[in-house]
Amino acid sequence: MVVLNGAKDCTEMKNWKSELKSGLKEKSDLESFFQVDFPQLDFKTLIPLALANKIKNAGPDSVLWKQFLPSENEKSSEGLKDPIGDEKYNRAPQLIHRYFNRALFLPTSVCPVYCRYCFRKNELGTKKLFTPDFEKTKKYLQHHPEIEELIFSGGDPFILTTDKIDFYLSNFKNLKYIRFHTRTPIILPSRFDQELLDTLKKHRENFDQISIAIHTNHIDEIDLEVEDTIKKLGSLGITLLSQTVLLKGINDDPQTLKDLFLKLSSLNIKPYYLHHPDQVKGGMHFYLPLRRGREIYLKLRDILPGWAIPQYVIESPKGGGKVPAFNPESLDFSGKLIGKSGEISFY
Ligand code: SF4
Repeated sequence: MVVLNGAKDCTEMKNWKSELKSGLKEKSDLESFFQVDFPQLDFKTLIPLALANKIKNAGPDSVLWKQFLPSENEKSSEGLKDPIGDEKYNRAPQLIHRYFNRALFLPTSVCPVYCRYCFRKNELGTKKLFTPDFEKTKKYLQHHPEIEELIFSGGDPFILTTDKIDFYLSNFKNLKYIRFHTRTPIILPSRFDQELLDTLKKHRENFDQISIAIHTNHIDEIDLEVEDTIKKLGSLGITLLSQTVLLKGINDDPQTLKDLFLKLSSLNIKPYYLHHPDQVKGGMHFYLPLRRGREIYLKLRDILPGWAIPQYVIESPKGGGKVPAFNPESLDFSGKLIGKSGEISFY
């Protein structure tokens, strides 16, 4: 049960574990904190207390509120439970091997926040893809030397204890590249305490590269505390990338994205992916047609410097993996045809 005393100052919550433990989970906690009624939903809610304070200050029309607080729209039956067809590439426990030289490692189904648009929102907190059997996972990697890069995802890998991260990195030393995909630097920057920074630094020299792809969708998510964390990560020799989901009502216009990508570039984060939203059940109110996404990206290419333009990608529910979503000439990329009117042939 969360004990709340009005808008509790986030500086009281210095430890990331207590910040998470005090996070808002129950409908009653949310209503008491935000003084607003929320719908009862099947999807989980979790908002670390410091983030809840930021959301409250930003107000109900803000992009923070819309991305993290439950809404009636989530009751819609439209959309798919597994919108990217992950399951058929689940080759070993917690491992998705879809591309030849890299694999996705899912060490947890838990996140430090539950984003309302998440493509895994029907799986998070369930055991479907996440049941561990580490020996089997290691064996699979040993038998597949073509895998050079392991991508930690989830859930969010930085929800793991530092000891656990240390354990995994120690066990994956024979791989060349490690990448983390995470929303934690944005929504729980206190997680990057000295112990975790030291652990990442210790392992940095064991790999050709460690990169962190930071998931952020809007410049309003990046305050001074977040900037400070990003600078600390950059100082470890870690390559910083970004991934952004194009979301209706959040960032679906070229200027908003331009502001975000220039801000990221100024923090030495390479804009890496702009994802077209997945058609996920409970998140269809964030969905926009591919044609609209392509119009936005076309404009973005005109107003950003070339080095700040991310790849615009889309995933098929049939599990074909990421393919370029921008294809105005209707050329065949990665074997998939994207038509001039915006449709994908296998969609
Ligand atoms: S942090 Fe990532 S995986 Fe977790 S809920 Fe948000 S989008 Fe989904």
